[in-house]
Amino acid sequence: MYDENNIFAKILNSEIQCDKVYEDKDVLFFNDINPVSKIHVLGIPKVKCVNFSDFVKKTNKESVFNFFTKVEMVINLLGISENGYRIITNSGKDGGQEVPHFHIHILGGEKIGPKIR
Ligand code: 5GP
Repeated sequence: MYDENNIFAKILNSEIQCDKVYEDKDVLFFNDINPVSKIHVLGIPKVKCVNFSDFVKKTNKESVFNFFTKVEMVINLLGISENGYRIITNSGKDGGQEVPHFHIHILGGEKIGPKIR
């Protein structure tokens, strides 16, 4: 069940501010408040979904395609596509998810090594 009071829901309804990287009617990308690499951007769809599985189940092919196309666009915007990057999504307790709104971490700007956040 989606928690309407999760921190990313509050960012989406402007109750909490964020450092925006890219936004349109469907998605929001912003800098992580506690970066684990030189570049650490979070990307979220503007859909009330708890995790990756919930996003896929609640939406449709077009939304999933659109979201990941935007992830790729932001990677280009950040200038990290040539040197490389890591994208991660954590899900649930075993996945180490802290915020229960589906999000992708984009890590880059340096060699990421064994960091797995
Ligand atoms: P998770 O562990 O759920 O995959 O990742 C949640 C991420 O959200 C963490 O990397 C954490 O630093 C980030 N985060 C938590 N609260 C805030 C916030 O208020 N603003 C921003 N920009 N990032 C946050």
